[in-house]
Amino acid sequence: MKNIIILGAGTSGTMMANHLTSKLPKNEWNITIIDQYKTHYYQPGFLFLPFDIYTTKQVKKNGKKFIPKHVNYIQEKIELINPEKNKVILEKGSVIDYDILIVATGTKIAPEETEGMNSSEWHKSIFDFYTYEGSKALRDKLREWEGGKMVIHITEMPIKCPVAPLEFAFLADSYFKQKGIRDKVDITFVTPLDGAFTKPKATKALHYLLEEKNIKEVTDFNIERVDYENNKIIDYASVEVNYDLLVTVPTNMGDDLIERSGMGDDLNYIPTNKTTLQTIGYENVFAIGDATNLPASKAGSVAHFEAEILTENILRYIEGKELKEEFDGHANCFIETGNGKALLIDFNYTHEPVEGTFPFPGVGPLSLLKESRMNHMGKMAFRWIYWNMLIKGIHIPFVSATMTEKGKHFEDVKQ
Ligand SMILES: Cc1cc2nc3c(=O)[nH]c(=O)nc-3n(C[C@H](O)[C@H](O)[C@H](O)COP(=O)(O)OP(=O)(O)OC[C@H]3O[C@@H](n4cnc5c(N)ncnc54)[C@H](O)[C@@H]3O)c2cc1C
Repeated sequence: MKNIIILGAGTSGTMMANHLTSKLPKNEWNITIIDQYKTHYYQPGFLFLPFDIYTTKQVKKNGKKFIPKHVNYIQEKIELINPEKNKVILEKGSVIDYDILIVATGTKIAPEETEGMNSSEWHKSIFDFYTYEGSKALRDKLREWEGGKMVIHITEMPIKCPVAPLEFAFLADSYFKQKGIRDKVDITFVTPLDGAFTKPKATKALHYLLEEKNIKEVTDFNIERVDYENNKIIDYASVEVNYDLLVTVPTNMGDDLIERSGMGDDLNYIPTNKTTLQTIGYENVFAIGDATNLPASKAGSVAHFEAEILTENILRYIEGKELKEEFDGHANCFIETGNGKALLIDFNYTHEPVEGTFPFPGVGPLSLLKESRMNHMGKMAFRWIYWNMLIKGIHIPFVSATMTEKGKHFEDVKQ
């Protein structure tokens, strides 16, 4: 028997376990998946939890439920990878050999990287919504908050789901309107980027929405420290932004395991071939999802497209065939804009988000880069799709792993 080990049973790892178990002969391959936690979180739901749109029950389930029965499931912290000797070492000391390794350990927030952020005010006046604990604590805070200066802040790029902080700002606007206290809340969006998003066309559309909703924007803000005693964030150019409630996305980093194993870059992301998903330097080690250093968005939809391509490449690797250079950075993200509407963007390494229709050219029914109620329904349906199709490795009809140019108005960008 040969061994495939999958590190991490989040979105990517669970998908890979499901894909591989249906493709590999059970009398030849053992598949093992390892994760430190029992619970699988639907992380996109962390955006809705603070506004009481989702309940805690809707965003978490027992992870083992999604692991196929022929796959060995180990719940333990992974201590080290020894890629020279093809071994993985667990926290309690057991050593597991592998023939093929898939690293799917994701990314996590590191508030300790910014002076004053992980202070006594953490989850009191400074919150994140990128963890279950942070999102729930923020929900409790918002239930009793009577208004003041809310600052929504991104520490540095890359972050997972780069549009989530903007969505948070839009949802905050409609939440306070519904509560009848919007006039008592001043919302400011603070970003290290020179605009609302990384891509020009989308930045224009999103900037317009910020203006429309009276959300102030502070750009090019490279934070030096949080002065938690005086409620302000300060950047390297000494620009100060005051807050009563700071909602920050701290630095995102790959797991310390990657650093301990000497396999990562300075943010603990694994150097990975951007089209084949094989790691650079270790031909029997592959990486997927947020754990990689790929210049694609760190998103569940991206991991879903990668999983389809990686499954094929692992089968090719086993058969001694050349790997397919197929992954194009395809990302497909709904952007919730509040008041029951959302935008949709679909892009890849080489094509920025543009207007058009999706998935069918001219027909839609979803519109790209334009607010619509249908897009909002798509965003809300994503939770059902996630639990029932996506992590089970079921192909989502009409959405291909690589981006299609059909139905997209690229000609507008050239003008
Ligand atoms: C607020 C928010 C909103 C989002 N919205 C969207 C959205 O609308 N659409 C979308 O597509 N994506 C969205 N995402 C992003 C999406 O959730 C992630 O990109 C996706 O979960 C990445 O999957 P992954 O498997 O790579 O990492 P994860 O799902 O984070 O899984 C990594 C797993 O590895 C385990 N692990 C790590 N290190 C160790 C170790 N040393 N030992 C044992 N186990 C370990 C972890 O416990 C975890 O279970 C959002 C994320 C957030 C935070």
